[in-house]
Amino acid sequence: MRAADISDQLTDVLVTEEEILSKLDELALQVESDYDGKELLLVGVLKGAIMVMADFSRRLNRHVMIDWMAVSSYGAGTKSSGVVQIRKDLDTDLHGKHVLIVEDIIDSGLTLSWLLDNFASRGAESIEILALLRKPDAMKVQIDCRYVGFDIPNDFVVGYGLDYADEYRNLRDVAVLAPHVYA
Ligand code: IMP
Ligand code: MG
Repeated sequence: MRAADISDQLTDVLVTEEEILSKLDELALQVESDYDGKELLLVGVLKGAIMVMADFSRRLNRHVMIDWMAVSSYGAGTKSSGVVQIRKDLDTDLHGKHVLIVEDIIDSGLTLSWLLDNFASRGAESIEILALLRKPDAMKVQIDCRYVGFDIPNDFVVGYGLDYADEYRNLRDVAVLAPHVYA
C-alpha cells in the first residue's frame, strides 16, 4: 500500500518509494566499487531490514551472500536499552569475511553498537553498516555508518519494513505515524 491509501493514520510522508529506490541505486554503485574484488556478506537484521535487503541486494551487479540475524533489545517500554538478546543467529562463520550490515534505521544506535562488538569478536575481516534511515537527534552512541540513505527527524516512523505493533511494514513509503494511532 501507498501512504495515500492510509493518509488518516499518517502525518508526514518523509521518504517516498521512488526516493528510496533511487537512493539504493546510488548506494549500490558505491558498494560495488568499495568491495571490488572482495567477497561480500550482507547481514540483514530481522524483521525491519527485509525490504531494504531485498531492494538493495538486487541492485548489486555482483555476487553476494546474504544472511540474517534476529535480535531483540529490552528496555523500558519501546525504547532500546542496549541489552540485546539473539533470537536467531547467523548461519555463516564470519571468520575472514567482509560483512556489510543492512539495517532499516539507526535510532539510539545501541543495537548496532552491540552487533558491531559481537561481529568483531567472531573474527570478521571488515564490518561496515548500511542504514536506510538515521535519526541523528536520537543517537545515544556514536556509530560509524558508511552508507546512509536519509537522515530524518526524531519521530516514530513506519513503512518500508518498519512497523508499529507488526503492522505497516508493507507500506511502500516511509511516513510519520499519527499520534492518535498509538495514543
Ligand atoms: P536502536 O537500537 O535504538 O538504534 O533501534 C533499533 C531498532 O528499533 C531499529 O532497528 C528498528 O527496528 C526499531 N526502531 C527504531 N526507530 C523506529 C521507528 O521510528 N519506527 C519503527 N521502528 C523503529
Ligand atoms: Mg531493525
